[in-house]
Amino acid sequence: MTAAILLVEDDRPIAENVILALAREGMHCHHVSLVSEALARLRAGGFDLAILDVGLPDGNGFDLCRALRGFSDIPVIFLTARADEIDRVVGLEIGADDYVAKPFSPRELVARVKAILRRGRAVALPAEAATPGLLALDDERARITCRGRPLDLSRAEYLILKAMASRPEKVFSRAELMDAAGLAEASLERSVDTHIKALRAKLAAAAPEVDPIRTHRGLGYSLSVEHDHPL
Ligand code: CA
Repeated sequence: MTAAILLVEDDRPIAENVILALAREGMHCHHVSLVSEALARLRAGGFDLAILDVGLPDGNGFDLCRALRGFSDIPVIFLTARADEIDRVVGLEIGADDYVAKPFSPRELVARVKAILRRGRAVALPAEAATPGLLALDDERARITCRGRPLDLSRAEYLILKAMASRPEKVFSRAELMDAAGLAEASLERSVDTHIKALRAKLAAAAPEVDPIRTHRGLGYSLSVEHDHPL
């Protein structure tokens, strides 16, 4: 799999292991150790995925991820060192796609990278497959419009809503939605709940009178077409 990865990590031995493991899989890794360098690189573009350490000499990975989401929706994997950092990755709306807790095996990280890149490329749906009326999928631009207005979605939210819109009324389990979003199995299932909550809020802002995402207790979520109106 060829891919360009930006690694932001100030611990040199860790960075070297990650670079080596990615290179073994044919992925090119550009390594920086500062938030400022990372932002400059990310703004220049050309990366398929970013791997972010949390604690960095001139800032932290969370703020970096937030800033990144202002201009890019490439997938982000966090390297976290402490449980409270994991809680922040999972619980906050910072638009991360996955995390790996330190200490980690580079092989595990590479498996996550590959899974996310595969998902992002595999779930291509024709635009007409989206729920007609309420939502429209613009796959080339990786965005979904609600009533003609583009929703400001994180990558995971985009992939979850895209999966649900491709099969309206189907009840998706959290595991299926995690899969659709390219979240690794080890991610907590409640991260899906967090993404769903964010999606509901964004849909409510765009179309206040409908609440198309249904919760199925103990099962998962589905997207209802009951409220559909032509644009
Ligand atoms: Ca660090």
